[in-house]
Amino acid sequence: MYLVKLLAKKEVAEKTTAFFFEKPKGFKFVPGQFIEIYLAKTLTHEFSIASSPKEKELMIATRMRPSAFKKSLNKLKIGNQAKIGGPFGQFVLHKNKKIPAVFLAGGIGITPFRSMIKDHLNRKITLFYSNRREKDATFLEELKTLQNRNFKLTPLMTKKNGKHIDQKMIKDNVNGWQKTIYYAVGSTGFVQSMVNMLSEMKMKPEQIKTENFSGY
Ligand SMILES: Cc1cc2nc3c(=O)[nH]c(=O)nc-3n(C[C@H](O)[C@H](O)[C@H](O)COP(=O)(O)OP(=O)(O)OC[C@H]3O[C@@H](n4cnc5c(N)ncnc54)[C@H](O)[C@@H]3O)c2cc1C
Repeated sequence: MYLVKLLAKKEVAEKTTAFFFEKPKGFKFVPGQFIEIYLAKTLTHEFSIASSPKEKELMIATRMRPSAFKKSLNKLKIGNQAKIGGPFGQFVLHKNKKIPAVFLAGGIGITPFRSMIKDHLNRKITLFYSNRREKDATFLEELKTLQNRNFKLTPLMTKKNGKHIDQKMIKDNVNGWQKTIYYAVGSTGFVQSMVNMLSEMKMKPEQIKTENFSGY
């Protein structure tokens, strides 16, 4: 457990705030892992680390709702301390760099992917990033600037045209989609629909990794 100072807050999409905490000395994590923030005995939530290990601060981003936890998080002032635990979790990129990755992000499920992408700009990664509207799409502008010959981004705004991530989109956009490892993050409903789609595409369970943001 660490006591860390809140260094900054920034609105990163509509009703979505990034919180930058100081990184404790010796705190090492792998992109994709999460921390726990303890604000009080019954006020504990998990958050994927959205910053990369090379960045100075620990950043998390969350949809600001009027829940007890979020209200209390939002009351933290710059310079106030919070208790955090971690890093936790096994949701990390596979080791074999020759095998490409497909990232399937639903809304705020983008957070662990931002960390992975910033840390691995030399890896073959295709990100399908689904939001209702542009203004909900956290880190979208930054992600656009990171595109290169390895990292490809397909944003979808479902409210605009009703288009969701589907099999055809993946087959059309991902070379070697049959031999790819898939990572899906978002609400329980989003993750379940991605797993169903991948199963219909005959992907093996070991090709599918998920992180479920329960609570949405
Ligand atoms: C590994 C992991 C990583 C995560 N990373 C992120 C992240 O990067 N960003 C992010 O925003 N979130 C992340 N989450 C989700 C996060 O931890 C919260 O669950 C989420 O933000 C919702 O919190 P809340 O305070 O808005 O809602 P909460 O108050 O916690 O409510 C959660 C849900 O439970 C329901 N609920 C609450 N109280 C009750 C009750 N008394 N009876 C019945 N239902 C109730 C609410 O309606 C809601 O649907 C992550 C979760 C996990 C497990």
